[in-house]
Amino acid sequence: MRLLKIRAIGELKDGDFKKLSKVEGLVALSSYNPNIVKYLWGKFTCQKCGYCCRNVTAGIWLQLDEHRWIKSKLGNKKTKEVTTLRGGKWYLNHPCIFHIENKCSIYEDRPVMCHAYPLSIREGTVYLWMYCPASLELIKAIDNDVKLNGKGVLE
Ligand code: SF4
Ligand code: SF4
Repeated sequence: MRLLKIRAIGELKDGDFKKLSKVEGLVALSSYNPNIVKYLWGKFTCQKCGYCCRNVTAGIWLQLDEHRWIKSKLGNKKTKEVTTLRGGKWYLNHPCIFHIENKCSIYEDRPVMCHAYPLSIREGTVYLWMYCPASLELIKAIDNDVKLNGKGVLE
């Protein structure tokens, strides 16, 4: 995982973007701060490609109440087929059963991980899933912002 601290953002070159485009998995973007997350969402444009619903390899982490909710919708048998218990946590398998005709059929009730994707906040750090094709564009946009406005946009 590569940590793109504020120091690096605003100084990225073409070669850096090329390397970033090949990253599989997460890139650590910045320390967590609610304003940073708000700023990042303002810069993010989902391409509605559905990749995250079909392909996020490890599955979608479910909170316990989300797992219960899925069980109430699908019943025990089906829920067992479409979810996995790993390391004491439940995951919704991929491709996601709720992804129908390239849309989320439970959009209003989708799991919190889906709300946050491609951002992921863990232990005080904001990460970005590079599987999302819009993630590189997001990094380019914030790098450009810092180049135009000087350092501090993410502080
Ligand atoms: S992979 Fe990224 S761009 Fe594609 S639908 Fe998911 S969030 Fe949107
Ligand atoms: S719950 Fe909805 S948003 Fe989340 S992976 Fe499934 S289809 Fe996509």
